[in-house]
Amino acid sequence: MSKDTKKVIDLLNQARARELTAILQYMVQHYDLENQDYGKLAKVIKATAIVEMKHAEALADRLVFLGGTPTSKPDAEIKKNQSIGEMIATDIALEDQAIKMYNEAALGCAEASDLVSKDLFEKILGDEDGHLDDFQNIKDHVDKLGNVYLATLTGPGE
Ligand code: FE
Ligand code: FE
Repeated sequence: MSKDTKKVIDLLNQARARELTAILQYMVQHYDLENQDYGKLAKVIKATAIVEMKHAEALADRLVFLGGTPTSKPDAEIKKNQSIGEMIATDIALEDQAIKMYNEAALGCAEASDLVSKDLFEKILGDEDGHLDDFQNIKDHVDKLGNVYLATLTGPGE
């Protein structure tokens, strides 16, 4: 295996570990929110978790193709028993860090002349931008409206 291939596999695996953290974190949150009857917010977070699962799979497919072994370890502790404000702050940080990580990874793949992996990172980045925007909007509403906004997130998800 060339040095460049090894480098790309490492970048793909670091990203996969980040995705696994996001999947587990969002799953903890959406079950927690469902229990607290915040069904609408739970639904948004569950849908995000499913997108992250697809990212974890796509990264693994690519790195297996290159001869690597997909990691099964998340890269951070999963936070529990957080308030809604804390949950959203956690999620914003996860997405923000992923965006920085994947931008650098895309550049690293280009340096290693692997444009297929670079393209994969760019596609995933598009989704992460959307997630960050969604979570940032929720935070803005919570900050501005507090309980009035939180009340709109209760009930079953549509
Ligand atoms: Fe992702
Ligand atoms: Fe994301």
